[in-house]
Amino acid sequence: MSVIDVYTCYALAGAGSLIGLGLIMLVRTEHPRIRRALLLYRVAFVCLSAFLVVGITPPEHMREVWRHGVGVCATGVTLLAWGFRELNGERTPLAVGLLVSVGSGCLLWFGGGVLSPQLYQLLVAVVLAGIAVGTLLDQGRVLLRSQEPRLSGEWALLFTALLFSLDWLIILVYSWGHAGPYPPHLLLAPDWLMGPSAMGIALLPLSVAAIVFAIINNRLYQQLHQRSLSDDLTGILSRRGLREHGQQLLARQPANSLGVALLMIDIDHFKSINDRHGHLVGDEVLRHVTQVLSDHLRDDALLARYGGEEFTVMLPLRAAEDAQVVAERLRQVVEAHPCQAGAGPSSVTIGVTISVGVAFHHRTRPLEDALSRADARLYEAKQGGRNRVSSERLMV
Ligand code: GH3
Ligand code: MG
Ligand code: MG
Repeated sequence: MSVIDVYTCYALAGAGSLIGLGLIMLVRTEHPRIRRALLLYRVAFVCLSAFLVVGITPPEHMREVWRHGVGVCATGVTLLAWGFRELNGERTPLAVGLLVSVGSGCLLWFGGGVLSPQLYQLLVAVVLAGIAVGTLLDQGRVLLRSQEPRLSGEWALLFTALLFSLDWLIILVYSWGHAGPYPPHLLLAPDWLMGPSAMGIALLPLSVAAIVFAIINNRLYQQLHQRSLSDDLTGILSRRGLREHGQQLLARQPANSLGVALLMIDIDHFKSINDRHGHLVGDEVLRHVTQVLSDHLRDDALLARYGGEEFTVMLPLRAAEDAQVVAERLRQVVEAHPCQAGAGPSSVTIGVTISVGVAFHHRTRPLEDALSRADARLYEAKQGGRNRVSSERLMV
């Protein structure tokens, strides 16, 4: 016989659920998918706190009371699985989620009243093994399919689901061949598995809360990082984003390539657009120029807002004259596409031109070096009368 007491483990699971609930309540986020997942976890932990019932139920009523408790806990575990689907970006239709979570709870809540103890014990094992295996398959599929680097919390979740699946599949097989007696706490496992199974239940809520905390924390960090790399107004890369993605683009260049050109682009007389039409229209012009530039750039080029009304393009070279040709084409398309700002009778058409400075990145020098040379060329283009391209020569 195992020395681990199942009732104590249940009480620990109940207390762990309340602590898990407290932890989940601490998470603050505006992200709709994470908020949906958090709501599911909250309800799940409230359901799982039903494990505490064992502490206040007299032993003679345990079996009667606990078969309802198991139903509530099954709903709790299903809601946890649903929450993980939300965190993974997989939508579950509301009706399906409710049907499975409430349905599994009801099966166990009412099943005890109509089924023989043997069949009921089997039903408990089928429902819990089903939830564990479902979560394992879901999580495994997400981890295998994903192109992005996965988080350690997601592997921890897969591992936890694997352990619970094995545990409950063994319990299922054992319950199938078992002819009684049936314990009031409903955990029917071979002797050697009693201790680990009870401990697994005791630790489940806190482990899940810790895993959820770790995954959400990482997701929020990634979001914040991503946000810091993009420009609020235009949605393209910010200067910081250019530095980070620019280094990656440089690292991807083959050793025998022609290298990378930097185009520094500045809108001509932008201040007077602001002065004449106001800052909001100025903002619209910035978004319009961003759209025109990105519509006419190749997929391998990086476009960033360097600051104010300045943009930078990093262009992997396909030919020696590539950068000048691309810069000239961008200059022409911006001139050919005036900005239609405002709506209705107050709408205005604003002609926009840009000046472009072109420089080439040297493999051995920092990116900033090429940026400042492109800036010097831009100054030259401005001095030369604006709406033009000025480029240094490519040394090959
Ligand atoms: P130049 O042809 O020499 O480039 O002249 P310019 O008027 O374009 O350049 P200047 O540097 O004198 O003015 C840039 C203006 O851009 C000044 C600033 O108020 C405006 N600006 C910077 N950021 C924003 C922004 O986010 N929105 C708007 N509407 N204006 C901005
Ligand atoms: Mg400027
Ligand atoms: Mg300007």
